[in-house]
Amino acid sequence: LRAFRDRSITSRTASNYRLLSTLVLAEHEGGSVKTSSVSAVEAAKYLSEDNSVSILLAGSGPSLQKAAEHAASCHPSISQVLMSDSEKLKYPLAEPWARLVHLVQKKGSYSHIIAASGSFGKNILPRAAALLDVSPVTDVTEISGSNQFVRPIYAGNALCTVQYTGSNPCMLTIRSTSFPVAPSDNARSSAAPILQVDLSTFGEEGMEKSRYIKQSSLDTERPDLGNARVVVTGGRGLKSAENFNMVEKLAEKLGAAVGATRAAVDAGFVPNELQVGQTGKIVAPELYIAFGVSGAIQHLAGMRDSKVIVAVNKDSDAPIFQQTLELQVADYGLVGDLFEVIPELLQKLPEK
Ligand code: FAD
Repeated sequence: LRAFRDRSITSRTASNYRLLSTLVLAEHEGGSVKTSSVSAVEAAKYLSEDNSVSILLAGSGPSLQKAAEHAASCHPSISQVLMSDSEKLKYPLAEPWARLVHLVQKKGSYSHIIAASGSFGKNILPRAAALLDVSPVTDVTEISGSNQFVRPIYAGNALCTVQYTGSNPCMLTIRSTSFPVAPSDNARSSAAPILQVDLSTFGEEGMEKSRYIKQSSLDTERPDLGNARVVVTGGRGLKSAENFNMVEKLAEKLGAAVGATRAAVDAGFVPNELQVGQTGKIVAPELYIAFGVSGAIQHLAGMRDSKVIVAVNKDSDAPIFQQTLELQVADYGLVGDLFEVIPELLQKLPEK
């Protein structure tokens, strides 16, 4: 590591770097660390009381610098920010990023490496684990010791407590919804130091295996689906992409994110990034409203931890209305036609 000298931010030498034990692999966008990555820092708190955390950011240009400054002050557990500025790391491709994690681990000998369980972490962490010859523990929802973790299995129908018995580092992906960060939790009196990772030994090996082509994302002002307080979801019951606009209008009025079932995504009503469930996003908002969603277990796997679930379905026997001793899905259920209920809601709700 080369100390970060020429900026006003405090710098620190490489010797301190060796004392730290947890590395968080962070994703950033628009000059800020993503909330899901701050949750990964929060999760690190549970590994041990005196655990201090290094956060690793990579990319290139001014937005990386801005994100590093944000990282330096976004959570009290962060002891230092490791910044890797290189054109080779401009895009989050698994090959170069996994090699970066490998390089940083070889220098820092961390006991744990954590990433949020989104497409970024799921893409990079397993490859980095293979390079480090360890087996990662994925989708952790609870940490009950430095090597004991709870994770869902069978599409969330059972929780499994696992003991990590492999060698260091213990690598984890965590579900960010299980480690929320309250705004009051992340106040800190001074910024953590920012260090630059020495990439002189990084090389080109394996770089040709994947190539960045383009990124397309919805240009929307709506809250991020993974962290929204309210989510309005539409299923196959919406019947067409055109009808799905009603769900989007309702979400706009409620300041909510839009979600969808896999059936709605497969039918082409909405893009795949809105899918909630076992093979989509995991959400746990304060309020989850589902229209025309049957409640298949693969969908429930992505939303069952929502605080309040409201379901509108014309079939009173739909599984989303199920109430057994083991499982209750909807807290409030309305048996009705969504083509009547949504327009009525749109009419009655005030403009935002
Ligand atoms: P349907 O099951 O067809 O339900 C539509 C519902 O709309 C029905 O209950 C119907 O009564 C109701 N309806 C129809 N018209 C109206 C109306 N006018 N008013 C009110 N209600 C109406 N699914 C996911 O969602 N997410 C996943 O991540 C996911 N991963 C999967 C992974 C695997 C390996 C597999 C095998 C499946 C996965 N699925 C996933 C698919 C899942 O099994 C279901 O097929 C899917 O969730 C069903 O979506 P749906 O509820 O929109 O459609």
